[in-house]
Amino acid sequence: MLLQNWWYTTLLSSRNPIQPPLTSDITADIVIVGAGMAGLSAALRLSDMGSRVVLIDRNICGGSTTGKSAGFLTPDSELELSQILRRFGQQGAHELWQVPENGIALIRDTVAAHGIECDLLTQDSLFLANDPSGAKDVHEEAEARRRLAYPLIEYGAADLAKVIGAPTYKGAVRYPGCFGIDALRYSQGVKRVLLERGVRIFESTEAHAIDGHRVRTHGGSVIADKIIVCADKLTTAFSPYAENVFHAETFLTISEPLTDKEVAGLFPGDPLQCWDTDLVYSYWRLTGDQRLLLGGGSMLTTYARNAVTSPRVAERVIRKFLGKFPALAKVEFLQYWPGLIDMTRDLFPTVLRDPDAPWVQFVLGCVGLPWAAFCGDFAARHARSTETQQDHLYYRYFRPDRPFFMPLWSEKILSKPIVFSLNNVWAKYYQRDNKPAA
Ligand SMILES: Cc1cc2nc3c(=O)[nH]c(=O)nc-3n(C[C@H](O)[C@H](O)[C@H](O)COP(=O)(O)OP(=O)(O)OC[C@H]3O[C@@H](n4cnc5c(N)ncnc54)[C@H](O)[C@@H]3O)c2cc1C
Repeated sequence: MLLQNWWYTTLLSSRNPIQPPLTSDITADIVIVGAGMAGLSAALRLSDMGSRVVLIDRNICGGSTTGKSAGFLTPDSELELSQILRRFGQQGAHELWQVPENGIALIRDTVAAHGIECDLLTQDSLFLANDPSGAKDVHEEAEARRRLAYPLIEYGAADLAKVIGAPTYKGAVRYPGCFGIDALRYSQGVKRVLLERGVRIFESTEAHAIDGHRVRTHGGSVIADKIIVCADKLTTAFSPYAENVFHAETFLTISEPLTDKEVAGLFPGDPLQCWDTDLVYSYWRLTGDQRLLLGGGSMLTTYARNAVTSPRVAERVIRKFLGKFPALAKVEFLQYWPGLIDMTRDLFPTVLRDPDAPWVQFVLGCVGLPWAAFCGDFAARHARSTETQQDHLYYRYFRPDRPFFMPLWSEKILSKPIVFSLNNVWAKYYQRDNKPAA
């Protein structure tokens, strides 16, 4: 298997030339730092509202986390509905589930409005129980969806043969409104739209510092009324808010196209996007050309401080998967790639206006493409006008000083990976916080 991001391979057929780096001092109404899903969504909104936008990225648009992702567009990114319901109650769960649902709608509307070629597929989600305790989790998720009157189908072990070609699962919940996407081609498609609208985009351009209204890069700078930072892997040298974010590592692999027989063996019904109930879960779906995209990780590497690139983790993920789907034993996997997902201690994004420089907003730790799309759009709308926005309530969920299990200072004793992993587990399985601060 080659260590190579498959989505970069798919990009070779697109006609979106790299934008040259910034080499002078320029001005704008708004400068956006970071052109992943969040930054691109912010740029789309602001350019639509008529702002003079500059967008800079140290990679290419979508070239970091967004363009490494598996492209599942499901509201469930690390936090299940039942877990949000336990923490925030019915009203909070409803408000928060709207975030990724709106994010998915934004992405789909953009694809439709601009004819972006990005392998967008309709794929229901299927959350699969690996064992009896997983069956309890799956049932809780089904119950949470029933309570909030969201559509679902719950399968017992005996019904599962209709939807998945492995006999070992103990149950599952399926729901619609989910899609698959090549998020790197989507990003590059959005880049084309933004360029057509007159947005100035500088790729391979790293922001080094914010100095008042000026964003400094190696070769130039942008002075703007407003600054929105949607950057990943932020350093404390750039902003102290970097403390609020760490990362989790996951691996993806891509196969040769499956034969129709293999596809029918995997999905006796429609192709679905699947993940299981393990703490470090496996996830898989098909691409438009019937390749199997399979992801997962290991306990040891998920919270590693530095990226692990060895193929061993990916090979283990494949072995575990083939143990469940022996009929796919002959499928060849071509490429694998790791990626680090930025996250906060409770797996919700942090979106804030810097109190010392209120013209600067930060969008940090968005786990999931739909969450990032919503948060970028949210920050953009709030940058332009605060009077007409109806969704201020989200600041209380996304503020940096919301309740966490362990404070940041405990990192000095326990280390960042331990503090973030314990907080993540607490937020997923135990935290109750029915009355977020107003
Ligand atoms: C392997 C993998 C699989 C995943 N699968 C899924 C999935 O199936 N579904 C899902 O919803 N989510 C998935 N995710 C998570 C998802 O990709 C992220 O949550 C999402 O892309 C975050 O978007 P973002 O815009 O916040 O961040 P990013 O995409 O990381 O964007 C931040 C941008 O900022 C730029 N940048 C950083 N620092 C600077 C700087 N100083 N100056 C200029 N630019 C800077 C980076 O180059 C980058 O382009 C996956 C992630 C990985 C790694």
